[in-house]
Amino acid sequence: MTPSEGLLAGRLGGAVDAAVPGVSFEFFPPNTPEMELTLWKSVKRLEPLRPHFVSVTYGAGGGTRERTHNLVSRILKETHLVPAAHLTCVGASRAEVDRVAEDYWRAGVRHIVALRGDPPKGAARFEAHPQGYDNAAELVAGLKRIADFEVSVAAYPEVHTEAASPQADLDFLKRKVDAGASRAITQLFFDVDVYLRWLDRAHKAGVSIPIVPGIMPVTNFRGAVRFAEGCGATIPHWMSHLFDGLDKDPETRKLVGATIAAEQCRRLQDAGINEFHFYTLNRADLSYAICHILGLRAAPEAEPVAQAGAV
Ligand code: FAD
Repeated sequence: MTPSEGLLAGRLGGAVDAAVPGVSFEFFPPNTPEMELTLWKSVKRLEPLRPHFVSVTYGAGGGTRERTHNLVSRILKETHLVPAAHLTCVGASRAEVDRVAEDYWRAGVRHIVALRGDPPKGAARFEAHPQGYDNAAELVAGLKRIADFEVSVAAYPEVHTEAASPQADLDFLKRKVDAGASRAITQLFFDVDVYLRWLDRAHKAGVSIPIVPGIMPVTNFRGAVRFAEGCGATIPHWMSHLFDGLDKDPETRKLVGATIAAEQCRRLQDAGINEFHFYTLNRADLSYAICHILGLRAAPEAEPVAQAGAV
């Protein structure tokens, strides 16, 4: 490999030609006051990168409805960020889900990430509520009936574990687009070639909305393996090899994780993709560093957000 082919060469050598990437960040509602502090430090650190939006997950089984709502509201009130609220079909009737969406619209939230949702802990598979939405395509249509939300949906480069076939999975993604989704965000993946081949098939299947790659910078490799197994994502051998021997070395794991994710994004940029959704796990450092490597720079400090009721 010549220096000009290396990961950082284009960035540091002055030959930066790629346009500045568009990014978004995912957070989850914190469980404890300590986690809340970490989350808010991360939100504030990432805010000057001016992401297109930041999304807030909805716990498996719909268990974080209140906390998702509270975090989204706080982001809206206390930052300049555009929040996107995840919403699922799990454990609620259509009327209940619709009410949550109406509350969001009234609060000023205009972007929903519409998902069928994972089953609650202990349940083997998703069971729709008797009066509920059966799947994400139905939910997208329901949201669009309520208001003109911007709606993002999930997509699976390595095929959803419940899909009848890879083609059926893409046909279903197309159904979500036809129902009104205007962006898909992918499940995490690590093999760029797998994603690019799948993207080609998605385009051939008529999916013409942006399909934004979901990037997970990994620091806890064992946790990532468990998570990947659960959602049908493959951990390539080269990646296991890179983390081999680092179980007790979190500092090196961090550097390795940042390098892998930055290289993944750079390869995607080479293929013409320049929008990325980061699964931050509520930590800013790796996502921030990767964005920096990709050419993104913090905006000058913004005016503080006016607090409700302030004169
Ligand atoms: P759907 O799109 O409804 O279905 C998933 C797949 O099942 C389809 O692609 C299709 O292959 C098959 N399928 C479903 N219904 C039909 C049908 N009627 N006919 C034919 N095939 C069908 N989970 C949470 O609980 N909370 C979150 O906040 C959350 N955020 C996520 C964010 C992203 C970006 C991603 C990628 C996933 C997220 N998930 C979340 C996980 C998601 O809920 C699970 O992957 C879930 O199992 C499927 O959700 P979905 O919206 O893709 O479902």
